Amino acid sequence: MSNALPKIAWIGLGIMGSPMSENLIKAGYDVTGFTLEQEKLDRLTSAGGSAADSIAEAVRDADVIVTMVPASPQVEAIAYGPDGILENARSGALLIDMSSITPQTSVDLARAAAEKGIRVLDAPVSGGEAGAVEAVLSIMVGGGQVDFDAARPLFEALGRTVVLCGPHGCGQTVKAANQLIVAVNIQACAEAVVFLEKSGVDLAAALDVLNGGLAGSTVLTRKKDNFLRRDFRPGFRIDLHHKDMGIVTDAARDVGAALPVGAVVAQLVASLRAQGDGGLDHSALLRTVERLSGAQV
Ligand code: NAD
Repeated sequence: MSNALPKIAWIGLGIMGSPMSENLIKAGYDVTGFTLEQEKLDRLTSAGGSAADSIAEAVRDADVIVTMVPASPQVEAIAYGPDGILENARSGALLIDMSSITPQTSVDLARAAAEKGIRVLDAPVSGGEAGAVEAVLSIMVGGGQVDFDAARPLFEALGRTVVLCGPHGCGQTVKAANQLIVAVNIQACAEAVVFLEKSGVDLAAALDVLNGGLAGSTVLTRKKDNFLRRDFRPGFRIDLHHKDMGIVTDAARDVGAALPVGAVVAQLVASLRAQGDGGLDHSALLRTVERLSGAQV
């Protein structure tokens, strides 16, 4: 293990944060974590990290602070206030927020952190739980080139495609576009699944051949078994995709971009959530199509 590696504080050890922080530990980083669930802290210590009792304790000696929490309100809760990151991190630290939040929250955070001498990158990810476990995430970054270059080795321990997209907030804007594409893609796959099944075609065979042609996608590769087995354990929760469809819809309206198909899919995601399926994986959009097609699921 190299002493030259920066000391990491990791806040938010959920579906994504746990495997990502463990990949940093495997790469030789010293990781101290804080999250709300004790069992996730226990998991971190079993993997070779250290558990902190508070955000303040986690960040105090850190060179780099990574946050991976659900949405803008949680990022604001952990960043601001007397017990938050900005009050307790040392000046010169680099704060990398990898949560998917509104671009404006990232811009505001960077501005507030700069007043404390803390540098910020927004660095949301795509690739899902599997991408996190396998360290093959796509990481879309907003912020300055110097900070991006400093963070690059850390990003490369977490992902395969790492791109600086522009200044603060740009990583989040690209992530919003990512979530639009993923939701529309899942919806199209779900509609194809119901159509194929009702037509009496061998679904597994059909999905295999579709995935080899222009209809193929990472969504189809990653979610095929979810569709075949009706296995909707998350993965990526509908609640979170609902949040992301709100982000992309608002951001597009701000810049005058029309998202007609995205708007319909946002409503289908909202409907699934309203029917009590917010905790399921986003491949559960299949249930909405099945219900619309007359099934009692
Ligand atoms: P999750 O709900 O599994 O985990 C969130 C973690 O944040 C929890 O461990 C929780 O304890 C922690 N947390 C919340 N509030 C906190 C606080 N005040 N202090 C400390 N910890 C706090 O969520 P997830 O699926 O890991 O997603 C995290 C982020 O990554 C979200 O923004 C999501 O949109 C994004 N994302 C998720 C996926 C995915 O497939 N799950 C993929 C790409 C991006």
